[in-house]
Amino acid sequence: MSHIFPRSMKSTPPTAVGGKGCYLIDSTGKQYLDASGGAAVSCLGHGDATVITAIKAQLDQLAYAHTGFFTSQPAEKLADLLIANAPGTLDRVYLVSGGSEAAEAAIKLARQYHVERGDPNRGRLIARKQSYHGNTIGALSAGGNAWRRAQFAPLLLDMSHIDPCYPYRLQNEGESDADYGLRSANLLEAELLRVGPESVMAFMAEPVVGATAGALAPAPGYFKRIREICDQYGILLILDEVMCGMGRTGTLFACEQDGVAPDILCIAKGLGAGYQPIGAMLCTSEIYDTIGAGSGFFQHGHTYLGHPTAAAAGLAVVSSVLDRGLLENVKKQGDALSAALQDRFGQHPHVGDIRGRGLFVGLELVADRTTKAPFDPALKLAAHIKAAAFEAGLICYPMGGTIDGKTGDHILLAPPFIIEDAQIAELVDKLGFALDASL
Ligand code: PLP
Repeated sequence: MSHIFPRSMKSTPPTAVGGKGCYLIDSTGKQYLDASGGAAVSCLGHGDATVITAIKAQLDQLAYAHTGFFTSQPAEKLADLLIANAPGTLDRVYLVSGGSEAAEAAIKLARQYHVERGDPNRGRLIARKQSYHGNTIGALSAGGNAWRRAQFAPLLLDMSHIDPCYPYRLQNEGESDADYGLRSANLLEAELLRVGPESVMAFMAEPVVGATAGALAPAPGYFKRIREICDQYGILLILDEVMCGMGRTGTLFACEQDGVAPDILCIAKGLGAGYQPIGAMLCTSEIYDTIGAGSGFFQHGHTYLGHPTAAAAGLAVVSSVLDRGLLENVKKQGDALSAALQDRFGQHPHVGDIRGRGLFVGLELVADRTTKAPFDPALKLAAHIKAAAFEAGLICYPMGGTIDGKTGDHILLAPPFIIEDAQIAELVDKLGFALDASL
């Protein structure tokens, strides 16, 4: 009998024993095409020799030193590399162990910034309905996923949640993309005016929504208008690129494609590519210097901040993404994947939308293409598709319908940046099989 506390108590997963390139292997020798990188983690695939060598070398030199006493060479180098490639005036990197930690730190940093600049009334966060920022209490409060929040409601912080920018669902008939982007962004201003702008500290959003909406990219101009509103009302813009960052959409930071830079940015997942648990929160010099000139101490912290071995892994991963031409590959193979999905499912009666950027692609499933009516959640369609795909040797990331019961189930695809044409064909074939077996 296992003593592991598993994700699901109703099933026993196979034991993973190996990984090579785009494939994972279980203890029976069965191979699985990892088309979601776990949850958009394994951007370099499995068994990457460069990253493994870098980790081993770091372990030989120094595994760990507490940041209350030391900094370390890999942490310094990783921070330099991230900032050299980061948008806007992002200038400082706070290295943590994962995405929830990065989101939690971002929320607390935003609050402390306003307190230290002498505006302690600013304590409210505005986020979006269809979003996920992590499972710790602050991050879960910011997230807008009803199912994840439901049973913890009494523990959650009071925050605002506006509609996401969701062209497939919320754009009006005949409305241009640009008009919709503007209208959707203006929901932030409306909420600010409703709650009183002087009480708001920040707006938080995923540039391309991952887990809760299946690679949902905004309409053009959306984030530019969001940035304007944030500046006008003196609130910080926090972008959560835990899933969509680190090259997944074809640029190192997803927000580059929207022409905006945040005040605080969260990354994780693809930063360590699964070789080590690592995340990061980046902030501007304005935020850092304000606290530096005040208390001089960010009142937060975890034991594994700036972990040298994790930082060495992150450094090797980001260097590989930049130096091996993988961003180009994400664009090229992302186009190939989207084209293959369009080809196969573009007219499928139950695939309402195929969307995304780069190698971050989502399919939204509907009971009826014309009305866009979702399937009954009781059917647990996403779970059936996941199981059928897994049986066929394909790992994809399905999510049940959310947002007030209006949206459909999604399948999220986030394969390694090294995916080849033959594997794209295999992915589409196996996904087609899983859909047919489940619908
Ligand atoms: N933020 C986003 C956008 C995510 O997708 C996730 C995880 O899926 C998180 C935060 C939380 O990250 P972690 O699971 O590493 O704590």
